Amino acid sequence: MEESLIKRVMASIKCGICGQRYEPDNIGVLGHQEDLWFLRVFCSACHTQYLVAAVIREGRAPEVITDLTGAESDKFRNADMPTADEVLDMHNFLKAFDGDFSRLFSRK
Ligand SMILES: [Zn+2]
Repeated sequence: MEESLIKRVMASIKCGICGQRYEPDNIGVLGHQEDLWFLRVFCSACHTQYLVAAVIREGRAPEVITDLTGAESDKFRNADMPTADEVLDMHNFLKAFDGDFSRLFSRK
């Protein structure tokens, strides 16, 4: 799936803090494994930054699995780009959790 489409889909999601919709320009794609996408989103209204894991398929609303707020958002608030360590963490996270997510969503 194209990253531009991912951004359009994610722009339909509202900020968990203030309810404002995310702007495509404030959505960064970190990577994906099949339909599971990891994104960095920044709310221009309340200036909260999240890391989001979402299952995104064409023709249906995205299912946000996790987002990181509080301490994690503080950690990333001042970061312009993910560091190599963060990308590596994400890579390991993807590898470790793929099976769990598949089971999680096949139950529905
Ligand atoms: Zn917000």
